Amino acid sequence: MPAETRLFLCRSDNYGVLLRDPDSGATAAIDAPEVAPIEAALKATGWKLTDILVTHHHADHTGGVAELKTVTGAKVYGPANEKIPARDVALSDADQITVLGLPFVVHAVPGHTLGHIAFYHADAQTPLLFCGDTLFAAGCGRLFEGTPEQMHDSLSRLAALPETTQVYCTHEYTLSNLRFAVAVEPNNPDVSGRFEQVTRWREENRISLPSTLALEHKTNPFLRVSEPSVKQKADERTGTDNTSPVAVFAALRAWKDKF
Ligand SMILES: [Zn+2]
Repeated sequence: MPAETRLFLCRSDNYGVLLRDPDSGATAAIDAPEVAPIEAALKATGWKLTDILVTHHHADHTGGVAELKTVTGAKVYGPANEKIPARDVALSDADQITVLGLPFVVHAVPGHTLGHIAFYHADAQTPLLFCGDTLFAAGCGRLFEGTPEQMHDSLSRLAALPETTQVYCTHEYTLSNLRFAVAVEPNNPDVSGRFEQVTRWREENRISLPSTLALEHKTNPFLRVSEPSVKQKADERTGTDNTSPVAVFAALRAWKDKF
């Protein structure tokens, strides 16, 4: 049976994610923003927490890790190059781990933070990507520690995974990201269609995730920096000729920071 997932709100706009193997009943949390909502989700589902996969060191992703480990005995995986509370297994690029009996590949994705990692499960039918604050629905994370070049490389790596990949982002930023995407590509019908759809969903308080890589390729401006119309818009903003995809990416990211 395929793995089951649950998404739920933590803090103000973080999502907690639980992933469960129906055969064993073992459950992993991807990041642990806050203890109470994760415990409530475990109680509601009856799932048993066995593992915590941490993507990066920010407090809104690690705040609940130590306490949840103490309470449940869960094993904590996290990036080797960052300070992660109660970490048992330190992970680096291309490491392969088995969690809940499922194989995962670790991708180093520096940019938002320097040691940020993503977890990818290459299922034939439903590949899963847990990418922390690197790739968002219709957007990407802020560059707190890394360079535009690093983030562009990281996003390009994730974008090369299969189109069917389900993308589990960690914040509900989709609608504001789409507002920006519409500004970048006012004539892209996929972007305006998604904007209308997510506007309705958010009015109903519906979670806009997970996304898919297919949808991100069509609507995420940060994955579309090689499109001539996106480059042209970046050039208009900077008043220069952004001759490389990295330069277009940097122009978009700087614009979005003030949008
Ligand atoms: Zn973060």
